[in-house]
Parts: sequence; structure tokens; C-alpha cells
Amino acid sequence: MTFTTRFAPSPTGPLHLGHAYSVLLAHDMARAEGGVFLLRIEDIDQSRARPHWEAQIYDDLHWLGLAWPEPVMRQSERLPRYRQALNRLIAMGLVYPCKCNRADIEAAAGAPQEGVPQFGPDGRIYPGTCRHRPLDETGSNDVLRLNIRKALAAAPALRFHETGPAHAGMHELSPGDLIDRVGDIVLVRRNMHSSYHLSVVVDDADQNITNVVRGEDLLEATHIHVLLQALLGLPTPIYHHHKLIRDENGKRLAKRDDARAIARYRQDGLTPQDIREMVGL
Ligand code: GLU
Repeated sequence: MTFTTRFAPSPTGPLHLGHAYSVLLAHDMARAEGGVFLLRIEDIDQSRARPHWEAQIYDDLHWLGLAWPEPVMRQSERLPRYRQALNRLIAMGLVYPCKCNRADIEAAAGAPQEGVPQFGPDGRIYPGTCRHRPLDETGSNDVLRLNIRKALAAAPALRFHETGPAHAGMHELSPGDLIDRVGDIVLVRRNMHSSYHLSVVVDDADQNITNVVRGEDLLEATHIHVLLQALLGLPTPIYHHHKLIRDENGKRLAKRDDARAIARYRQDGLTPQDIREMVGL
């Protein structure tokens, strides 16, 4: 299979140095392997996506010297595909409607317990208040969640690994670890047709992605993606999780971090080579 990777930004703000690092790594890897580099626009959240941010993504990436086949995949054009995947999970009995808002989840979460994480890839780990609600009671403002216990039971052969402390190598996570750390993640967000997790596995499969290059902040999300792939009968790509680019205080860069926007450096007269050096490439 041809080495195929992708960069999948959301057009909800400017690309910054962290994105530059990720996209340059992916693009360099594809070139080194004689493979394919794809761009995908993750604009599933139409309340936050803006055409001018999408235009700026193309400008920034062209300026960095990158090229990709056209047309690019855009999530907002693929809602029926996400629905198909969702229907499959529904048919397996793994999905339930949830009416909890953030405050409800906070209130139900209870006191923190020693050794049990409170936050996962979707923020606070869902305490399970609505887990027993049937789908035919889905309200128009509900989200749809994956029942992680049932999902793991439906994919019993699946193994999850993570890298331990330095030199300790990989170690295996038990289903219990995953239940604690990930919880019942959202498959369809409020007023949306999908969620990041559901869309990204369907898209990676449809684009025949063999290698995903992403930040280590997505390590836990990757476990969800591997689980969804198993449930949906989709192939699992090889994942490369890279270090995060941080500011001088050690904080990871955020979309609002305009000072480190690629466009800003560009205006200030820096070159793409300067950007490469700044991120250590
Ligand atoms: N849209 C996601 C992001 O920008 C994609 C990351 C990924 O799936 O690798 O964080």
C-alpha cells in the first residue's frame, strides 16, 4: 500500500507553529517514503468554521512550500457517510442519547478519586447519567454517546498500548483503564451531524490513510479511534505522535495564540526555512 498521510486542520482560527511542525513532519515523511500527502478540512463544526480561515490555511501551506492533490476533502460535504457509520454503531446497540450539559456533568462527577483521571479526550469524563436512556427518547438537543463498556465488549480481541516512562517501552492498557480514562465519548454533538472522533475514522479510512502524524495531545483520542475502527470494520493506520510545540512558559500553543500564527511570521518577513528551524526541523 502506498504510504498516505494527511494534515487535517479545522478552519476555526489561524495555523500556528504547532501546526507548522505537524504538517511539515507529515509532508516530509510522505516525500521520504515516495508517498502521498493529503489535506483535509475538518469543518464539521459549522458554528465555528469560517471561509476566511480556510482560505488562510491554503495560503499558509502554499507559502510553506507544500502541495497536495485537489480537490481537498471537506467534512461538511460528507454528512451521509458519518450517518452510515453511526447507524452501524446504533445497530450494534452501542449508542445512547444524553441530555446533560456541562454543569450537569460537573455536578454528577462527584469528588475526585485517587488515581482515577477526571479528564479525557473530550474534557470531563462522562459520569454515565443518561447511559440507560433508549434511543427513541432522543431529544432535539441531545448528544449521542458511545457506551464504552459495551463497545469494548464488542471488540474483545482489541489491544491498546501506550508508551510508559522513558525506556520502559510499551505497556498494555486494560479495558478498565480505557473506561476510566476515556469514558462514554460523544459521537454526535449537539446540533451537529457527527463528532470529531466519528468523522476522523471514517475519513481516514475513505482516504486510505496508512500513516497518521499528530500531536501527543491526541494519544488518548487515538485509543478511541482504534476502537471505532474495530467496531466499524475499518483498517487502523500507523500512528506517529509527535512532541508539542510550546511557548516560552512551556504552555502548548492554542488557536488564539495569534503571536505565533504562521501568517504573522510571514508578514514579519520570516522565510519558510526560518519556520522549519524554529520548530526544530
Ligand atoms: N482537526 C484535528 C486537529 O486539528 C485533526 C487532528 C487529527 O485527527 O490528527 O486537531
